[in-house]
Amino acid sequence: MVDTADRIAVRNPRTGQVDYHFTPADPSRIAAVTAGLRQAQPAWAALGVAGRVAVLQAWKAELVKARDALQQALLADTGRWRETVLEVDAVPRLIDRWCAEAPALLEAPPARPSRIVPSVAVDAILTPYPLVGVISPWNFPLLLSLIDTVPALLAGCAAAVKPSEVTPRFIEPLAATIAAVPDLAAVLAVLPGAGATGAALIGNVDAVCFTGSVATGRKVGEAAAKAFIPAFLELGGKDPAIVMASADVDRAASACLSGSISNAGQACQSLERIYVDRRVYAAFLEALVLKAGRIRLAWPDPAQGEIGPIIFDRQAEIIADHVTDAVSKGAKCLTGGKIERHGGGAWVAPTVMVNVNHDMKVMREESFGPLLPVMPFDTEEEAARLANDSDYGLSAAVFAGSEEEARAMAARLEAGAISINDAALTAMVYDAEKNSFKLSGLGGSRMGPSGLTRFLRRKALLINRADSPSPWWIAGPA
Ligand code: NAD
Repeated sequence: MVDTADRIAVRNPRTGQVDYHFTPADPSRIAAVTAGLRQAQPAWAALGVAGRVAVLQAWKAELVKARDALQQALLADTGRWRETVLEVDAVPRLIDRWCAEAPALLEAPPARPSRIVPSVAVDAILTPYPLVGVISPWNFPLLLSLIDTVPALLAGCAAAVKPSEVTPRFIEPLAATIAAVPDLAAVLAVLPGAGATGAALIGNVDAVCFTGSVATGRKVGEAAAKAFIPAFLELGGKDPAIVMASADVDRAASACLSGSISNAGQACQSLERIYVDRRVYAAFLEALVLKAGRIRLAWPDPAQGEIGPIIFDRQAEIIADHVTDAVSKGAKCLTGGKIERHGGGAWVAPTVMVNVNHDMKVMREESFGPLLPVMPFDTEEEAARLANDSDYGLSAAVFAGSEEEARAMAARLEAGAISINDAALTAMVYDAEKNSFKLSGLGGSRMGPSGLTRFLRRKALLINRADSPSPWWIAGPA
């Protein structure tokens, strides 16, 4: 929300009141900051990975010291407490993980003879993109601002981060931790702002990592194409879960519930559609409704209860619209089903829905809320068809009695990561490379080793070690 020409007003998700303002970075500030980062980047790259690891470890110590300040700012930004603690504590682990993996990933493979022209040795120099731009959303403001930033820095890039204007309060304590480590402050900047700041940033960087909605992702992809830079797009999802007849139904119900309601459903990898074999449908629903009924809103005390407020008021309207649309077409809410107003904030209890079908928005569009529409299926073919009947392909979950059965179903699903006998595991397990399907994203995997190596360009050195140049003009091109 822009309240004056140059200030952005920010709503508090627990009170509904505007209680924070900030000035977005304008094009001249973006140009000046990114020029400074570019100037410092060659020395950062020359520092070597051991030097960069030492700087990031110094930053980690500052982040640990700032734990309380970061938690309080994120609590004000998001209104939730449990996920805030997890989010703040995930960052030191993220830094440690990449510091441990970076040295091996940054080693160029040893020179070897070409298989086609054996007298030519093939070697490589790995060259980081000088400046990476990171544009992040409001659902995990701190973690998603740093998840690509940390590996980019270790790869030898400088980074400019543009967090969401919906949740900007954490920027101040975060910037203080960066300022406390001058070697880092030279190559890492956080630029507050809204869409205009993000759009302007793209023209000043050499690669862009974007996490957000499909609609904005398209704009970012187009702008990156115009600027002729790579765009790594991590976009929305409509993740399905499939519960086979052989599954442990109680376990599946617990996992589906937590996979749907964590962060009040405001997570890209949230389960948003549940398909259950008709033979276990009644038992599954019974368990799900029982468990959903035990979940408490974290109101008035943010530390008591499992489910926080809807962070972005416009999202509450989308959730309400999906429920209304489904109910008007014959769906029934067995639990929840309405936006509750407490203290000015918008809250949604876990909403188990039945009698749903694919003509309803709740089965097709990203709800980003704790809605659990459940639909029975009769055959595995039908389950796979329904799960794949989506514009999205981020991740999925399969519950089955045997790993073999689950793997067979997983192979049929058009999704980048499939949790087996659990849900939303990509929220915690970052080691496995994955590529989004359909509208859920584009570009190299953020997870696994390519999460770092995608920030490196490979320069090939082709060294002819023979006595004379290669007579390719006689032999013809290979
Ligand atoms: P959004 O697309 O509205 O905004 C994301 C960021 O883009 C914000 O920082 C915003 O200021 C910026 N922005 C807006 N217009 C821009 C423009 N023209 N150019 C450059 N930047 C611009 O997304 P959101 O509502 O903040 O986040 C929710 C979405 O993010 C959901 O769709 C969710 O699924 C997705 N998400 C995806 C992942 C993933 O890993 N795939 C993770 C978390 C969230």
